[in-house]
Amino acid sequence: QKEEWAKLVNEKTVTADGHHVELAANIGTPKDLKGVVENGGEAVGLYRTEFLYMDRDQLPTEEEQFTAYKAVLEGMGGKPVVVRTLDIGGDKELPYLNLPKEMNPFLGYRAIRLCLEEQEIFRTQLRALLRASVYGNLKIMFPMIATLDEFRQAKAILEEEKQKLQTEGVQLAEKIELGIMVEIPSTAVIADQFAKEVDFFSIGTNDLIQYTMAADRMNQQVSYLYQPYNPSILRLVKMVIDAAHKEGKWAGMCGEMAGDETAIPILIGLGLDEFSMSATSILKARSIIKDLSKSDMETLASKVIEMGTTEEVVEAVNAAISL
Ligand code: PEP
Ligand code: MG
Repeated sequence: QKEEWAKLVNEKTVTADGHHVELAANIGTPKDLKGVVENGGEAVGLYRTEFLYMDRDQLPTEEEQFTAYKAVLEGMGGKPVVVRTLDIGGDKELPYLNLPKEMNPFLGYRAIRLCLEEQEIFRTQLRALLRASVYGNLKIMFPMIATLDEFRQAKAILEEEKQKLQTEGVQLAEKIELGIMVEIPSTAVIADQFAKEVDFFSIGTNDLIQYTMAADRMNQQVSYLYQPYNPSILRLVKMVIDAAHKEGKWAGMCGEMAGDETAIPILIGLGLDEFSMSATSILKARSIIKDLSKSDMETLASKVIEMGTTEEVVEAVNAAISL
């Protein structure tokens, strides 16, 4: 089987009836690029920049960040690279920031909330990203966006840093797509409003599931509620994809669900454009997608969206793909 998959390294990802989707990789450091290339990744769909900030005792400088971002952009040789701005807090701590202990860290001061408050940290990262933009196909993505206002504020700060750099005579890429992670239900529910202002969505199901089901993604005791195929999750995913397409934008997914065998047929049917997963899952996903018919999966998706439970959904998917 592994040998069969290996043949797909340089192939595009196309369904049996000719529909193309993009298979991208999630990375944490420039070192991960080797795996992306070896496994035929068509893009980096999520570069988790937190790792630049973790396991050290002070913030990374603009230069350090610039070097890392440039390495990733160049390493992908012009293929898209979605860099997520700092997503610290929740499960990812930064001891040297001395943030107050919170009762509910997952619902607390983290990610974009922290970046909009501690603006120097945010602006340093944005400057490093903007300077690196000329070395490849950079797309910038904000994590944990809950309101349109947060997106507008973050975008305004990015625009200010762009202006400053341009005044200093620094070369920037002409077009840098700007998107958001959809991982908070409030954002999924009004995705139609966001779609008018963002260039793309990437659905972060790891968090979207925990916030929709109100079940901590790290708590074994409630892990039975962590249900990617629950119709409530599938409906939110559908809303996000439909909203994007209505405005001519693209929608991806960078949570674990994007590389999941049972989820992939549904996601193809819902029209997801980009699937971002760990590099080692890419070839298997490509081989699964190659055998699916988009139009059959559309029929499947429209059925499972109307179901009541996870179990029914899983049964319907199994029946559809063993045809
Ligand atoms: C997600 O929430 O789905 C996601 C991709 O981000 P992380 O796992 O880094 O929270
Ligand atoms: Mg997340």
